[in-house]
Amino acid sequence: MSMALPDTRDHRTFERAKVELGRCDVCGTGKAVYRSREEQAKVCEGRYARLVQEWNKGEEVR
Ligand SMILES: [Zn+2]
Repeated sequence: MSMALPDTRDHRTFERAKVELGRCDVCGTGKAVYRSREEQAKVCEGRYARLVQEWNKGEEVR
């Protein structure tokens, strides 16, 4: 197993929040809508989509 990149978090630990979270932890500009208790992070819609994308890439079988 390789070390995870700083901005590579497991999207499965994130869940859509029902309350205001403030700014996204990753880009610092977007409105955070997903949060992870495990990762102690909150991310915006766009960043969350990226997490899922990166995850799917990692799952690809060559
Ligand atoms: Zn963001």
